[in-house]
This record gives sequence, structure tokens and C-alpha cells, in this order.
Amino acid sequence: MSYANDYPVRLVGGRLALDLVNTADWSEDGQVVHEKIESLEDLDVWLQAFGLPDIGLPATAESFRVLRANLRQFLRSEDRPHLLKLQREMDAWTANGGIARPSLSGLAIMSTFSIIADPRELGRIKTCPGENCGWMFVDETKNSRRTWCLMETCGNRAKAARHYRKVREERMTS
Ligand SMILES: [Zn+2]
Repeated sequence: MSYANDYPVRLVGGRLALDLVNTADWSEDGQVVHEKIESLEDLDVWLQAFGLPDIGLPATAESFRVLRANLRQFLRSEDRPHLLKLQREMDAWTANGGIARPSLSGLAIMSTFSIIADPRELGRIKTCPGENCGWMFVDETKNSRRTWCLMETCGNRAKAARHYRKVREERMTS
């Protein structure tokens, strides 16, 4: 499945909140460098790919992007104030009908909470070191060996860059 700009939907995070964060590529300092969710239709494509076609959407793509930026901040920070802010979002969602009215925001908040609430879970959350990637995933390998969001994108890019540097160095020394 692909977004309107033909970019394929890739679900590699292992948790709903993480795959939502991965609907953009991020710079090291947490800015969006490549947006996949240009419109609510793109969000719809994502939901279908994820297997949640019949769920309440945020009002606008912009409000989704704000939620997503907040989730990423919650997931990457161990700050107590962030947790309290997340608690407030959870309370607002509960007051709004909560689980009786499933919405993407509600599920995203619950997913984020369940990651943050469990130290074993939080300890396995990683951010891909690929340049301008910043995707997040839960490393479920036995010895925590997973580095990349996806070998076929970031992993191979890094391998190619290493190879390029090596060839260049060899040329320079020969
Ligand atoms: Zn990556």
C-alpha cells in the first residue's frame, strides 16, 4: 500500500504508537524532514495498511501531525512533566467517551502509555540511526541486535556509505 505521493507504507515499529511516529522522517533534532501524511486520505491509507479501517480520525492532518510530534516527544523523553501531559491527554480522551468511541488519537495515547509504563518495553525502544530517518521501533531480537528500522533502506544505505568511504580511502592511499 502506498500514500498519495507513491511512498510505500512501511510498518516496522512493532507498536501502534511507533508506527504512527514513523509516518514522517525525522532529523536528529526532531524536525520532520519528509512528511508522508499530507492529507487525511494518507492517514486513511495508513489505517488500512495497519488493519484499523473503521476508526475515528483526527479532525485534520495538521492536528494529527501535532499529536504525532507529541507522542514522539513522550516516547523519547524520560521527563516526568511529559508523563503528566500524557496523563492529561489520556484523561481528555476518557472524558470524550474513551474506549466506547475508538479513535486513532485514543489508541495512540494508550499505546504510548503502555510502552512508557513498562521499563522492559521502554528499554527495548530504539531510534534508527539512519541519516534523516529517526524511525522508532521495539527491538524484539534476542540479544538486542537490531540497529536499523529496515535493512533494505537504512541498513543498506549505511553499508553503501561505508563501502564508498573504504574505496575512497584505498584510492587515496594507493
Ligand atoms: Zn531508518
